[in-house]
Amino acid sequence: MPYLTAPEDLSALLPGEPSYRADQLRAWLYGTPVLQPSDMTNLPGSVRDRLDPLWPFSVEEQQEADRGRTVKWLFRAPDGAAIEAVLMGYRSRVTLCISSQAGCAMGCTFCATGQFGFERHLEAGEILAQVAYARAHLRAHPIPGSPDRLGNVVFMGMGEPLANYEHVRESIRRMVEVMGMSARNITVSTVGFLPGMRRLADEPWPVTLALSLHAADDGLRETLVPINKRYPIDDLIDAAADYRRSKGRRVTLEWTLMDGINDTPEQATALASIAAELRAHVNVIALNPTPLSSERPPEHRRVEQFVGWVERAGANVTLRDTRGQEIDAACGQLRARRSSG
Ligand code: SAH
Ligand code: SF4
Repeated sequence: MPYLTAPEDLSALLPGEPSYRADQLRAWLYGTPVLQPSDMTNLPGSVRDRLDPLWPFSVEEQQEADRGRTVKWLFRAPDGAAIEAVLMGYRSRVTLCISSQAGCAMGCTFCATGQFGFERHLEAGEILAQVAYARAHLRAHPIPGSPDRLGNVVFMGMGEPLANYEHVRESIRRMVEVMGMSARNITVSTVGFLPGMRRLADEPWPVTLALSLHAADDGLRETLVPINKRYPIDDLIDAAADYRRSKGRRVTLEWTLMDGINDTPEQATALASIAAELRAHVNVIALNPTPLSSERPPEHRRVEQFVGWVERAGANVTLRDTRGQEIDAACGQLRARRSSG
């Protein structure tokens, strides 16, 4: 499982081979990833055999939606940990949503991953391998009408990336320094795990930071996002402002809209004022309902109304489409369905 070895240490997997073999292997793994070792055409058969299995997980399920423009994988690590990734093709870009943990300890009420609790952290190689797998898949099966290269990676699958800091950091290092991805096209989405936000600001890469806000006052936010009791909104705003200053990157505020909860004009106005203070971009998405929670998405008209209120209050806001709903492509939902039979 060569993705579990740091790219600089690959020669350890190939004892007795000339040193250029490790360079060739690194080029396959990180430059032009392929689905199986037999596709690594310039490596001799004896070397390819040693690379099997190539992936640190098996593909338990692959589903397509939106006429092939959304592809979702449920991967399974040898110890049984579930890893989800979703590939989304648009006209101008292809975006991959990846997981940083199997499960999540944060317990947000509306999130399928949170409802399941925490299984374990993913290793850097397991995180990176999701990106490599999607790139290999895209080369073998391009998405019609979309670019043939993976342009964007978002940490919006299972898990809280900043609670698995070292492994997430190392996966970003490999994406940027070894795969050659642009850090700006990598988005780390956080529930507001303050120490991680502070550390990320000190890293050399200008990755995009997305803060999952969902509520504009602590009273409401605590009912949706339990960790808000430890890291309240004002502290998160300070950390986001510092991130913006140190990286020169606009922060994104994520807002999952729930019927009768955070879809009021008061929340819209308060959100817009936080966005103005941070000069942040607001991303609104209607809740994807999960089996175990009572929250529901507002009607479509109300969603558009909310976006209008935020906009008129002066914020820069976009409404995100809910891709792949028919395959449960939201946070943790494919696994949720399988586990409930
Ligand atoms: N733990 C990180 C990243 C993973 S969740 C975070 O919370 O930011 C990625 C995004 O999906 C977050 O903005 C999260 O609030 C949102 N999300 C979770 N469950 C959802 C659901 N059922 N419907 C819509 N968005 C959801
Ligand atoms: Fe974890 Fe994010 Fe889900 Fe909250 S929304 S439970 S932090 S994955």
